[in-house]
Amino acid sequence: MRYVLGIESTAHTFGVAVVDMDGKILSNEKDSYTTEKGGMIPMEVRKHHKEVGPRVYDLALNTAGINEKEVEVIALSNAPGLAPCLLEGMAFAKGIARKLEVGIVLVNHCIAHLEIGEGTGASDPVLLYASGANTQIISYESGKYRVFGETLDVGVGNFIDSFARYTGLGFPGGPKIEKLAQDGNELLDLSYSIKGMDVSFSGIGTKLKQLYDSGVRIEDLAYSLQEVVFAMLVEASERAIAHTGKRELLLGGGVACNKRLQEMCRIMCRDRGVKYFCPDNEYLIDNAAMIGYLGLKMYKSGLVEKDLDKVDISPRERTDDVVVKWKRMLND
Ligand code: AMP
Ligand code: MG
Repeated sequence: MRYVLGIESTAHTFGVAVVDMDGKILSNEKDSYTTEKGGMIPMEVRKHHKEVGPRVYDLALNTAGINEKEVEVIALSNAPGLAPCLLEGMAFAKGIARKLEVGIVLVNHCIAHLEIGEGTGASDPVLLYASGANTQIISYESGKYRVFGETLDVGVGNFIDSFARYTGLGFPGGPKIEKLAQDGNELLDLSYSIKGMDVSFSGIGTKLKQLYDSGVRIEDLAYSLQEVVFAMLVEASERAIAHTGKRELLLGGGVACNKRLQEMCRIMCRDRGVKYFCPDNEYLIDNAAMIGYLGLKMYKSGLVEKDLDKVDISPRERTDDVVVKWKRMLND
C-alpha cells in the first residue's frame, strides 16, 4: 500500500497524519503550542514545531502502522499562516521528501477545513470557518471557493484569545471563556458589529477590556462576548445561505468547538430548514488529517510538485486565490 503524509504547521499546531489512497484517515497526531500566561509568539511557536516535529512524525507512522518508505506523496499546508511556522513545516516536509524521494502537494489550510467536512456527509455547504487567525463564510461557486463574508479585523479566535490574555487566562483562551460563560447571566451591551456578511471585533474587544477594568464580573463578560459575537457569525452565515440558496451549513475551525456556537447554528439551521453539519473536535481544530485528505484529492488531479526548489510558503494566500482544479476534474 502507498500513503499520503499530511503536515500541518500554519499556526500553533504541528501535526502529521497518514491517509490511505481511498481517503481513509489512519492517524492524526499533533502537538500544539500553549502558554499559561501571554499569547502566541511566532518565533517561540516555530521553536516548538522544530522540537516536536520528529516525535509527532514517528507517532503518526506508528499509529497508522506503516513504514515511511510506503509514503507516496507529502501534503503540506503552505498557506495561509504565520511565516515562521509555515517555514518550519516546509523545512520538515522537504527533509522527508528528499529522503523518501517523493513530491509535495501544496494545500490551502482554509479549504482543507472545508473539504474535511465531507466526512460528516455535507456535500455542498456554506462553511462557517471560525478559527484563531481566520473568520470567513465560504462556499463553492464556479470553480473557486468564494468568500461571502469575513472579519474586517482579527480572527474570532484571536479576538477571544486577546481578551483572555488581558484577563490573565492564558492561551488558548476560547475553552476558558466558554467555561466562564456558563456562570454568566447578565447580557451586557456590546457593540454588535456586522456589515452585510462581514464582521468586526476590535470595538467589542475595547469595550470588554473597559468593562473588565471597571470591575464587571468576568463570567458576565464571557457570557456576553459569546452571545453577541456568535450571533454575528450566525447572522452572517444565514445571509450567505439565503444569498447562495445552499441547503447545508458546515462548521470549521477551533472556535466551532464551542458548544454555544454549535447550538446557535443548529437553531438557525432548524428555523431555515437547512442541514447542519459539524465535524468532531479533532477535525475542527487545526489538524494534519484534513491536509492529507485534501492533498490526496489534489494529488489524484495531478497537482503535485516534484521540484522541491519550487515549493514555497504563501502566508497571505486567500481562499479565493485557489483554482479548485481537483473538484472540477473529479465532478466533470
Ligand atoms: P484553530 O486556529 O482553528 O486551531 O483554532 C484555535 C482557536 O480556537 C483559538 O483561538 C482558541 O481559543 C479557539 N477555541 C478552541 N476551543 C474553543 C472553544 N471551546 N470556544 C471558543 N473558542 C475556542
Ligand atoms: Mg485553522
